Amino acid sequence: MYFNGTNFDTYLKDYPDEKGYFGRYGGVYVSPELTAAMAEIADAYYTICKSRKFIAELRRIRKEFQGRPTPISHLERLSASLGNVQLYAKREDLNHTGAHKLNHCMGEALLAKYMGKKKVIAETGAGQHGVAMATAAAYFGLQCDVYMGQVDIEKQAPNVARMQILGANVIPVTEGLATLKEAVDAAFAAYAADYTNSIYCIGSVVGPHPFPLMVRDFQAVVGIEAREQFVEMTGELPDAVVACVGGGSNSMGMFAGFLNDPVKIYGIEPLGRGPALGDHAASLQYGTEGVMHGFNSIMLKGADGGPAPVYSVASGLDYPSSGPEHAFLRDLGRVKYDVVGDEETIDAFFTLSRMEGIIPAIESAHAVAYAMKLAKEMGRGSVLINLSGRGDKDMDYVISHYGIR
Ligand SMILES: *Cc1c(COP(=O)(O)O)cnc(C)c1O
Repeated sequence: MYFNGTNFDTYLKDYPDEKGYFGRYGGVYVSPELTAAMAEIADAYYTICKSRKFIAELRRIRKEFQGRPTPISHLERLSASLGNVQLYAKREDLNHTGAHKLNHCMGEALLAKYMGKKKVIAETGAGQHGVAMATAAAYFGLQCDVYMGQVDIEKQAPNVARMQILGANVIPVTEGLATLKEAVDAAFAAYAADYTNSIYCIGSVVGPHPFPLMVRDFQAVVGIEAREQFVEMTGELPDAVVACVGGGSNSMGMFAGFLNDPVKIYGIEPLGRGPALGDHAASLQYGTEGVMHGFNSIMLKGADGGPAPVYSVASGLDYPSSGPEHAFLRDLGRVKYDVVGDEETIDAFFTLSRMEGIIPAIESAHAVAYAMKLAKEMGRGSVLINLSGRGDKDMDYVISHYGIR
């Protein structure tokens, strides 16, 4: 299928190019030392991860350890309450550890094993990526160092405990604002100092090449499964697919399955409290082109030109940029990016819980809220939501800040 001059029959093989670019976005913007390390990971990815042995092992792990394939659920009561459009959810909340993140962490850790690395290094904000990484490291018997801002450590005690129970070292970062940005910087620095023994495992489709490629391909299992399951369930493709976008991994995985189909695709960013800088994390909506964390994309910039402070009720969406492939798909017009704020998200969180018996992650509730609006607009047809994770981690926060609705 051609879309605005781009051939989507071969899209997933054509992009990124060998330098890691999706059009003008992506690339490798790191020190010369780390550039060499990235090239080593890229070489390993193109050879090892395309081998029959690696693919077979990853398939077995997905089935026997992660519990894949995750099902699609028809949201019957919710659909009926909105009109004639049928809503469906791809249940990544039922993936082991309760979210999609383990999909790429198992792939990255398996690659580490094949490369003979002893240690995985990761950053984490709210702790979700750290927990998924610690889980993968435990499975493969790898050492795991997770860099986490001191402020986040204090806010996310249960995830810190999980990582420690799983045997990871949680290393506090006290520089600057002591949150995600500083944790990324510290993790990169630790990796630069020890890249022969270790491998850096990023938490989304962000960072220097080959990470946006690797994470997309490991997450593509979500979209590939979903497409097949949806056709089997209904005999046709969905009319629309919706996913939330922070860094952009759950959405990119889902979209990868449908880019070459006549399906409308929506990526939903967090509008938080509103459109003023500092109140949201909707980088593709309000950002401009720039380089951070080793890649060129669309980002929200502060007064100094560096990453701006961002906010969302969903800590997993709280990132001042998005993966370069999202910027590219936005410019192509293949994916429509839109926003949903905190209030609508919290409403959707309760609505899905009450009507379907599924408590969604607040991140995923952004996609649910948008799909509900879309269903009313469309009048008829079907919408597939990527339910990226479960909301157990968010219950205390929601109850204390919003009460029971
Ligand atoms: C981390 C997280 C996200 C956001 O990350 P992406 O890379 O944008 O997918 C979304 N949903 C859940 C449940 C998460 O844990």
